[in-house]
Amino acid sequence: MAFDYIAGQVTAQKQQARYRQRVCLQAAENAAQQQGTQILVDGKPYINFSSNDYLGLNNHNEINKAMQEGVARFGLCASASSLVTGFHYAHQALEDKICQWINKPRCLIFTSGFSANVALFQTLGQETGKDRAHFFLDKLSHASMLDGAFSSKAKVKRFAHNNTAQLAQLLSSSDVQNKLVASEGVFSMDGDQANLIELASVAKQHNAWLYVDDAHSIGVIGEQGQGSASVLTNNNQADITMATFGKAIATSGAFLACDENVHDYLINFARHYIYSTAISPALAWATIRSIELIQQEQWRRDKITELSTLFIELLDSSIEVIPSASSIHAIIIGDEQKALNVSEQLKNQGIWLTAIRPPTVAVGSSRLRVTICASHNYNDINHLASCLNKALCK
Ligand SMILES: *Cc1c(COP(=O)(O)O)cnc(C)c1O
Repeated sequence: MAFDYIAGQVTAQKQQARYRQRVCLQAAENAAQQQGTQILVDGKPYINFSSNDYLGLNNHNEINKAMQEGVARFGLCASASSLVTGFHYAHQALEDKICQWINKPRCLIFTSGFSANVALFQTLGQETGKDRAHFFLDKLSHASMLDGAFSSKAKVKRFAHNNTAQLAQLLSSSDVQNKLVASEGVFSMDGDQANLIELASVAKQHNAWLYVDDAHSIGVIGEQGQGSASVLTNNNQADITMATFGKAIATSGAFLACDENVHDYLINFARHYIYSTAISPALAWATIRSIELIQQEQWRRDKITELSTLFIELLDSSIEVIPSASSIHAIIIGDEQKALNVSEQLKNQGIWLTAIRPPTVAVGSSRLRVTICASHNYNDINHLASCLNKALCK
């Protein structure tokens, strides 16, 4: 029979405590419930500590209103790819807004961060012969960066997490002209940050470009939420940055920001851009409103910091948390089954905290990935910390 192995592989996932399933969130009964951090699963409410809505902007009244206005003005669907007739005024306005916000000459909108990453690496990595590129990725780079890089024609090397000394060595031993260093700004499963100042300077020394995936920093880091690349100075910038709209920005889609040459090159050669329907223009319109709120409302970033500090203070000192200045706080458990058990125990206390297991993270580093959002309150954090203390300190 064709594809006989499929059932066996699913069973093996179960045996290794790696089986993945989705949970369906029920619709909230009223608008107030919908805005908070509470989710409803199988009729039971939980405080959600596994959401990427870092700034608590999902379901914000003003963003919802902008979405409705966008539908009325531009329609729900782009109805074509950007290069045909799918590029609407709302997309142009969003691109302008992003360029101004993060101080880049150009940007392009993709349907997802995953597709933006694959597009970038495949397109910059499409040459062979003397123009063949050489990519250098942090070991902990997101699956979409790895997929893009490894499916391109470029040579790919990975450096140990945040190890700029090793990166410098690898760069020195490469005699290729077209080198690209790539890293996440804030790492998705660890919550720690890349040392972008050092990365930018090492890249520059070796005549390489720097690419930063700011999925978890956009909105959260920087004076107006411009992301982690905002720490870089004008003469030592990241050459290209990417961020998703699906996390702190609380809509959907993603952008790649770059100079005019790369912009034109991607429009002409990035297959993910050329052969895919543009994001909904209404969504683009709503995204502009979200970015305005992100720029104006510093209190959302302050709240994340305040609640994160409180969480670490309340947590028993024997519990190991990876140091983080972001929303993401990773508690390493190690064993898959143990991580699942703790997650289950917390569920009984009304807390939703998904256990993250291989292959998302390295074998033996299964973890609880706590995300603290601006919409959480002191009681939520208190409850989480006391339940974790009970579950993890015997
Ligand atoms: C979430 C994420 C992506 C993918 O973005 P989507 O818009 O969800 O496809 C890319 N890179 C990193 C680091 C991410 O965390």
